[in-house]
Amino acid sequence: MTTTDNAGAPQPHAFQADVSRLLHLMVHSIYSDRDIFVRELISNAADACEKLRYEALSESGLIKDDEGFSIRLTVDAEAGTITFADNGIGMSHDELIGALGTIASSGTRAFLEKLNGKGGAVEPDGETDQPVQGADLIGQFGIGFYSAFMVADHVEVQTHKAGTQEGWSWVSDGKGTFTVTPLPLESAPTHGTRVILHLSTNGKAYAEPGRLERIVREHSGAVAVPIDLLDKPDAEARRISEGMALWARPKSEITPDLYAEFYRGLAGQFDSPALTVHWRAEGRHEYTVLAFVPGSRPLDLFEPARKSRGKLYVRRVLITQDADLLPGWLRFVRIVVDSSDLPLNVSREMIQDSPIFAAIRKGIVNRLLQELTKLAENDADAYAKIWRDFGAVLKEGLYEDPERRDQLFKLARFATSTQAEPTRTLADYVGSLRENQTAIWYITGDDQKRLATSPQLEGFRARGIEVLLLSDPVDAFWVETALGYEGKPFKSVTHGMADIKSVPVLEGETAASDVPPAPDVARLLAFMKETLAGCVEDVRASDRLAASAACLVAPEHGRDRRLERLLAETGNLGMLSKPVLEVNPTHPLVTALASRFAAGGDGSLVEDAAWLIHDEARVADGDAPTDASAFTARLTRVLTRAAQAPVETA
Ligand code: ADP
Ligand code: MG
Repeated sequence: MTTTDNAGAPQPHAFQADVSRLLHLMVHSIYSDRDIFVRELISNAADACEKLRYEALSESGLIKDDEGFSIRLTVDAEAGTITFADNGIGMSHDELIGALGTIASSGTRAFLEKLNGKGGAVEPDGETDQPVQGADLIGQFGIGFYSAFMVADHVEVQTHKAGTQEGWSWVSDGKGTFTVTPLPLESAPTHGTRVILHLSTNGKAYAEPGRLERIVREHSGAVAVPIDLLDKPDAEARRISEGMALWARPKSEITPDLYAEFYRGLAGQFDSPALTVHWRAEGRHEYTVLAFVPGSRPLDLFEPARKSRGKLYVRRVLITQDADLLPGWLRFVRIVVDSSDLPLNVSREMIQDSPIFAAIRKGIVNRLLQELTKLAENDADAYAKIWRDFGAVLKEGLYEDPERRDQLFKLARFATSTQAEPTRTLADYVGSLRENQTAIWYITGDDQKRLATSPQLEGFRARGIEVLLLSDPVDAFWVETALGYEGKPFKSVTHGMADIKSVPVLEGETAASDVPPAPDVARLLAFMKETLAGCVEDVRASDRLAASAACLVAPEHGRDRRLERLLAETGNLGMLSKPVLEVNPTHPLVTALASRFAAGGDGSLVEDAAWLIHDEARVADGDAPTDASAFTARLTRVLTRAAQAPVETA
């Protein structure tokens, strides 16, 4: 790629399309909290220092011995500029174009995707002063380097990559293009980067040292690299932040605000942590952990990779930002680990393969589960919030990590047929079993409200049997593999024989009875089975119904219907197995049909009714009728008959 043409004039590069959209959003959103650009630029500078510290482990020539890392902010009110300088790793020509011409950060990408999801179309060339849709989101998530354009009308980045003999200058007005030109080394930083913001009219107010200092203290006080401020270009530097790793400080010295601020920098979120855990492990391995459960769901929570990303330090040196420190089902926890035992002078990969790393990982999971359990016991409301945000992720552990299942069962909370809020524990459930009830009953589906009104639940409700309403996709998987809880197996109310006859029906309730169906009904069921043979495996009398005439369930040997559907959606299953149609033998529709059928004649009405009952059961499950046009024709026929029937007068 050439950066200058033959005459030496800079050649403009176009931003990647996503960047243009983001820039437009930055400039055109009338967004109140512009302060965040300071945090973003400082966080990049700190990252650059930590990267160089790591590189220098294997290539000690990269930094001089006496040199400390620092970030330096210089205010020049006269020129209307603020400069963020660091002596970190710097960028090569290609890195510069890659990093500042495209969207590098996954947080920023997720931000844009969220915006797309909201239908918040951002037209790069739309000229408007209206707040752009989605501007409210900027406040919630870190959005990186481009936030500089909220306050600057042009930005220059001067950079010199450590270990090279080249300097580069990147300049852009944030309107679609940027240029990159060589920078004479004498005017480039020794190594590192200077980001010079030429403030726009409405960004001018930031050229004020007091204001900048306050913002730094508020948003970046916990950054691990010291920060100096120069009130004007020739002023003496003042240290405004010590840059001591927060996790290494004694807990007693750390205020909740400081933890929260550190969390925001770490997570790229602007909320406050729902749970902060900070401890130092001693004994076989020594390490310090600072972990946070976010106060809201991060954007990437359900990314397919489902990997945890933690910051791993070895004796204060950042080894990687993406250490896989936690199992997938704890990936929402934001975490920093600093170990004194891991080897420093080997590759990142080797560090993470070491048995010490595995032991640390295990220790962390133990502790986090303990802390969550403690919170659940001591502050049910705070825990309920965490469960609402992350319960669906924690439940993945029930499936993936059988060893942890008992611990996770203690943490799990459920919505049930008697309790719509997801706050019931399995212990609660087992504590209120009904007489003769031997199983923990559940129903799975997409929508909790629909589950709560499923016909399959009626007989359970009439008997006062509580049913877990499982509406997260992962539920269909773990209930299949979990063996039970306190000796009680998990059983689906839509699978196999319900067999709840022995549990007495509550007073004032009715449920399909356990007496064998009357001979007429038995003949009707046989006829229905014959009629529906292509769609159902069997038609039988049911004890799980009360108000409804019929419902569909999975056969004993089959898989739960919801799991089958999920597998079919992901292409992991060839053919769906046929369900069983269970019929309420005492329902007035069923008994009336049975007498008509016994009386002979009228076969077409009974046949239509058989199909309609079946399709109705499908609709109750959230499915469409098997054959829409046949369904409407039948319904119309039956309604016509009903409409033509003689009017009954009282
Ligand atoms: P993120 O920091 O989340 O990756 P940003 O938009 O803040 O996203 O920055 C994009 C990239 O630009 C960084 O990943 C880094 O490679 C590069 N970069 C930005 N500022 C600096 C800097 N001061 N020193 C070195 N590289 C930088
Ligand atoms: Mg950044």
